[in-house]
Amino acid sequence: MPKEVHHVVTRPGRRHGDPEVEIPVAEDLATVPGAPVRQEDVSFYTRVYPLETQNIEKAADRDWVWTVYTPDVLEYRERHDELNQPLVDAALVTGDIEPTGDAEPGKDMTDAIRLKARELGFNEVGFTRFDHHYAYSSKKTWVKYEHAICVALEQDYLQTQTLPSLEAEFAHFGTYEIEGALALDLADHIRTLGYRAQVHSPNDNSGAYIPMFINAGLGQLGANGQLLSPHFGSRARLAIITTDAPVSYDQPVDYGINQFCKICQVCVNRCPGRALLKDRVWWRGAEKFKVIYERCRPVMARYEGCAVCIKVCPVQRYGMKPVMEHYVETGEVLGKGTHNLEGYTIRDKGYFGPGELPRFNRQFFEIPHGRREEWLFEQFKEKLSEEGVPAYEDLVGFATDLKTILDEGDSTRGDE
Ligand code: SF4
Ligand code: SF4
Repeated sequence: MPKEVHHVVTRPGRRHGDPEVEIPVAEDLATVPGAPVRQEDVSFYTRVYPLETQNIEKAADRDWVWTVYTPDVLEYRERHDELNQPLVDAALVTGDIEPTGDAEPGKDMTDAIRLKARELGFNEVGFTRFDHHYAYSSKKTWVKYEHAICVALEQDYLQTQTLPSLEAEFAHFGTYEIEGALALDLADHIRTLGYRAQVHSPNDNSGAYIPMFINAGLGQLGANGQLLSPHFGSRARLAIITTDAPVSYDQPVDYGINQFCKICQVCVNRCPGRALLKDRVWWRGAEKFKVIYERCRPVMARYEGCAVCIKVCPVQRYGMKPVMEHYVETGEVLGKGTHNLEGYTIRDKGYFGPGELPRFNRQFFEIPHGRREEWLFEQFKEKLSEEGVPAYEDLVGFATDLKTILDEGDSTRGDE
């Protein structure tokens, strides 16, 4: 029997010029707009345990991944970094560039900026306050302007369905290259309108972007730990542009995802690393699904970025409208239990259909942890306990390595 519809969400079409879509949210899926958050707890965690980028906090394993890439992935990643670095460097200094046009005093610029962003090709555009609770410690003073323009760019559909594969990595990193350039174009345009604009590169994140995308109404957090946007789920790459242009904020939306993921669980059941939790937990003041980083990272690194959790998500595969309509009509999750949605192939392990998962031994999950200096100390302690006090030249080697790490500071490869 069809379910009662609690409310209908109307969203702009997938591309500029496409008709609007209407997404019905069933009565039993309605929770709260956006994400359940306890603001006082968010403030507490920000104050006592400030957020930091994984480029710093997890630098040890981010260095390690380069040692386990296949030759093809390694070659492609190096090529991508070479192409991408100028975009990241350009974004870093955008906040200092003066406007090139004259502002019209008192005019709200939301529609003009949204229109330009859509014309450039961004599929989702939303406005919210840049929430400093989610800024990384190392970037806090870098962020100059108050208003955040959240933009999402869809990556290729067919390439994404081949996940995990090198072809899907072309879609993943290729979309970042396009997005980095488009974000710079959008910032240039804002300057012609008489305002300043700072590009937060998708490959050099200034903070946790997803909470701001949720606040801007562009989706909700899925059990795969990613933003589920209405048209393409997590098949999207995210960037932010902050500005001093006067804009009006969008509002968070309840798409029904907070509850739908509890029922769906496809990504949780299909994750090769068993890295996803079935239930939401309170974490830093937000109720959310958590990804177990230490279970995910070894799989991601060795198997072309993995992302099976993106591939098997029905919202990514079919879009939120068909998924929610199917749920209203049948009470079931579209595609769940089918090879079409749930099947995937892991290089050198074979095909895994519904109910089947690859197995990895314990050593597979042993990877370096923490910051570079923490990992160096870890190895040093292990050596001490196994071999006793090292020879003088080994101590000098340790001190030299530590000095190099400290001198390099926070420099590392960009976000993935
Ligand atoms: S990337 Fe792969 S291992 Fe990591 S959570 Fe997603 S499916 Fe699991
Ligand atoms: S696969 Fe299902 S449970 Fe996982 S994020 Fe997508 S909708 Fe949510």
